[in-house]
Amino acid sequence: MVETQAMDGAALRLEAVRRRMTEAAREAGRDPAEVTLIAVSKTFGPEAIEPVIAAGQTVFGENRVQEANAKWPALRAKHPSVTLHLIGPLQSNKVRDAVALGDAIHTVDREKIARMIAEEQGRTGRALELFVEINTGSEPQKAGVDPRDAVSFVSRCRDEFGLRIEGLMCIPPFDETPAPHFALLRKLAREAGVAGLSMGMSADFEMAIAYGATHVRVGTAIFGERA
Ligand SMILES: *Cc1c(COP(=O)(O)O)cnc(C)c1O
Repeated sequence: MVETQAMDGAALRLEAVRRRMTEAAREAGRDPAEVTLIAVSKTFGPEAIEPVIAAGQTVFGENRVQEANAKWPALRAKHPSVTLHLIGPLQSNKVRDAVALGDAIHTVDREKIARMIAEEQGRTGRALELFVEINTGSEPQKAGVDPRDAVSFVSRCRDEFGLRIEGLMCIPPFDETPAPHFALLRKLAREAGVAGLSMGMSADFEMAIAYGATHVRVGTAIFGERA
C-alpha cells in the first residue's frame, strides 16, 4: 500500500515537471522537444526508479560512478531504452567505469580527464555525449573550467583529443540568483561553437529553459527529498 502511494507520487511529480517544462519552453518561444529532462536518481534505489521508468522517463542522471555501477547495470538490462548521464565530479580512477557505463558525461573539467576519456573511448569503441563543466562563479572550491578558459579548453578537447563536445554544463553558486550564470554559459557555448546547455535543477529549471537550456537535471522535484 505504501509502495503504491510512492509510485503514484513519483509518476505525478514527473508529470508535473514535464508540464512545467513544456510551459517554460512555450513561454520562451522554444519547442519543448528541444529540452531533455534528466531525472537525477542519486541516492534512490531501484524501487524508487522503476515507477519513474514505468511512467515513461528514459533519461536518468547519477552523481557517483560507483553508486551508478551498483544499480544501473541491472536496471538497464531490464529497460534497454534507458540512457544514463553521469553528472558528478569525475575522478581519474573512475573514468574507465564511467565510459563503460554512461551514455553521457557532463563534467569534463580538466585536461587529464579529457585525455583519459579519449583513450578509454578509443580502447572500447564507445562514443559518449560529452559536456564541459564551467565554473561560472569562479568559485575556488568548485570543479569546472574557468569561464576565461572555456573556449580554448573546448578547442583542445576537440583538436587534441578528438572528443565530441556537445555542450557546456554549470552549477551556479547556490547563494546567488542563477540567471547571470545561465546567460554566461549560453554566451560561452556560442563562442565555443557548441549547441548543448546542461543547466537548471529542481529550483530553477524553468529559468534555465528561458535561457536556452537543452538539458535540465532534476532530482528532488521528481524523486522527493534526499535523505
Ligand atoms: C543532485 C544534482 C542535481 C539535481 O538536483 P535537485 O536540486 O535535486 O534537482 C542536478 N545536477 C547535479 C550536478 C546534481 O549533483
